[in-house]
Amino acid sequence: MKNSEITARDLAHIWHPCTQMKDHETLPLIPVRSARGVWLEDFEGHRYIDGISSWWVNLFGHAHPYITRRLSEQASTLEHVLLAGFTHEPAVRLAERLCALAPGDLNRVFFADNGSSAVEVALKMSYHAHLNRGEKRPLFLSLTNSYHGETIGALSVGDVELYKKTYEPILIRSLQTPVPADRSVEAAEEAAVALESILKERGKEISALIVEPLVQCAGYMHMYHPRYLTLARELCDAYGIHLIADEIAVGFGRTGTMFACEQAGVVPDFMCLSKGLTGGYMPLAVVLTSDEIYSRFYCDYLEYRAFLHSHSYTGNPLGCSCANAVLDIFENEKILEKNREKIAWMAELLEPFTALSNVKEVRQTGLIAAVELQGYSPQERVNLKIFDHCLKRGVFIRPLGHVLYFMPPYIITKEEMTKMIETAYDAVKEL
Ligand SMILES: *Cc1c(COP(=O)(O)O)cnc(C)c1O
Repeated sequence: MKNSEITARDLAHIWHPCTQMKDHETLPLIPVRSARGVWLEDFEGHRYIDGISSWWVNLFGHAHPYITRRLSEQASTLEHVLLAGFTHEPAVRLAERLCALAPGDLNRVFFADNGSSAVEVALKMSYHAHLNRGEKRPLFLSLTNSYHGETIGALSVGDVELYKKTYEPILIRSLQTPVPADRSVEAAEEAAVALESILKERGKEISALIVEPLVQCAGYMHMYHPRYLTLARELCDAYGIHLIADEIAVGFGRTGTMFACEQAGVVPDFMCLSKGLTGGYMPLAVVLTSDEIYSRFYCDYLEYRAFLHSHSYTGNPLGCSCANAVLDIFENEKILEKNREKIAWMAELLEPFTALSNVKEVRQTGLIAAVELQGYSPQERVNLKIFDHCLKRGVFIRPLGHVLYFMPPYIITKEEMTKMIETAYDAVKEL
């Protein structure tokens, strides 16, 4: 089969996510026949390095033999059972392990099946936990430039205008407080002052502050200092507000530590995880919370007291078995230690960008790197030019506007990383 055959059939029926479909009149879709390690392969045998881990989900490369084996064993044992009134070993084991790994006293696990749903769960639980103590707090607070997903609640607490503006009239109520302007301690402290003034004024109406710890990924890979999280935790405590850590993108080692919150030494009231959780195999998400929050819902049957939220695929055993396999790999292969070397390669390979006049800033947190360009209008769509240049040379990256970024699978070799970053460098240089 040729690439063009499958793309023509695709365009007759499929409406793609996050896409102006008309772009595909000129921009070819990439039909992927198979993938192994960091490499995607199309129907004509062209190979591309997956420089963004397929939207940040694929931690250990594609078709990983161990995860594949555990998934297929699980599929022939128990593919699914509902999680209301039933349980199964993969979910139990995963919950035990996540609680052991998570910071502090996060000891309760609620399952969902995608990141946005996990955010919805955390928002609803936070509101409801206050309500169960007789407090009505109908507002949520989030950071400017934040992204928490696309469902109505998650979109409401996000702040990326491109995704949000159209739906403004139908969103739930939220307020935004400034994200630290840059990675300095001073910017973190300034942003905390702004947070405190909002809390002083509106604190009693707010259920929770939701943040993406350290890196706002969909928000053009904006990065800030851990000090902000420490100060935000203190302020949330002072005003009786929950802190929700949305670690959907940054969790599972991306920032160098297992969870980004660890770098600030803070324990959130809710932690949302998804994306890397199953290594890119199955949709799954969890929300971790404390026994204290859990206990506010725990009583003899009373209407409206319990958390009556569910999804059909809640805690799917196939997803849980993949997540357990992912945690096995972290343990058995000392991934966090090994990644330190790769983080250093990345820093070294990024260095040449800083000398280019069309580069405004190069930033890196763990195995997330971003190169911000300057001097281009949105109409120029430099992202497409860079995408195209790299794709023709066997590298798949997907710049966000004027920011190109790398978030490769952790199994990337030095040679592959060099190819990926040098190809992107040539693309930026030739703009
Ligand atoms: C991707 C993402 C989400 C949404 O997850 P989906 O599975 O795409 O719904 C939420 N928060 C953050 C920080 C994300 O990166």
